[in-house]
Amino acid sequence: MTPDILSQTYGLSGKTALVTGGGSGIGKAIATCLARSGAKVVIAGRRADVLEAAAAEIGQGCGTFVLDVTDIAALPEAEAAIAAKFGTIDILINNAGNTLKKPFEDCDMSDFDQIFDVHVRGALELSRCVIKRLLAEERPGSISFISSMTAYIGQPLVHGYTISKTAIDGVIRGLSAEFAARGIRVNGVAPGWIDTEIFRKATDGDAPRKQKIMSRIPTQTLGQPEDIGWACAFLSSPAAKYINGQVILVDGGGATGF
Ligand code: NDP
Repeated sequence: MTPDILSQTYGLSGKTALVTGGGSGIGKAIATCLARSGAKVVIAGRRADVLEAAAAEIGQGCGTFVLDVTDIAALPEAEAAIAAKFGTIDILINNAGNTLKKPFEDCDMSDFDQIFDVHVRGALELSRCVIKRLLAEERPGSISFISSMTAYIGQPLVHGYTISKTAIDGVIRGLSAEFAARGIRVNGVAPGWIDTEIFRKATDGDAPRKQKIMSRIPTQTLGQPEDIGWACAFLSSPAAKYINGQVILVDGGGATGF
């Protein structure tokens, strides 16, 4: 394949992309892959220093924007400010995430809410703002949510997380049906076990859990953040123009293998 065909098919030049939680882990890798594919990338999160350090590493004019996705009332203004500074957001990757490992019997509603607020409510409102502008400008767009393999398998102790990721899959189905005819595709990527902070938080000090995880991944390796990054770049690209309402598992076969 010639470089021309590759860039027409998989390239993102001329597009502005926003990655929430883009300052670290999987989000930073997603931002890197989108930038390498030619997009103008903006990364967002709560910690300015983390964002600045990541943007310097990503290079290619990567922009930063400090926001807390749980501050729902502030999101419309944040989206407008990003669009004014960097251009209309053509590609949104709802990646920001948190987790909590706690026995179900000890959880109260706030334990579920603090996870749901980030993964679902924040991502929903930001998507709504981005979609509204795309519709008003009659521009095509691509929204991707970072789901999780946890939406497909039962895992103990991370109930707020499992509930949130399962809800995201429903959001993807609904939005993908509502906006496809107007040029906006909505998909998701469901990472398996990826070697990042969130994974270490869930497995550190729990050797049996880690062993159980490793024993069920057919590739016998943890995923790397860029494995998710390239899946997002593909879903955001012209090559995926007929892919809508899907969640791609990027998990080494963990959810389906034995
Ligand atoms: P990290 O903890 O490394 O990164 C999470 C990012 O989200 C941080 O950059 C953080 O930045 C940002 N963030 C958290 N809360 C908020 C908030 N309220 N507002 C804005 N940004 C926020 O996690 P990962 O990179 O591992 O996870 C990224 C995504 O991938 C998550 O959605 C996670 O659920 C999902 N995932 C991860 C898996 C894994 O094995 N690692 C497996 C399956 C899914 P800051 O603190 O500065 O705000």
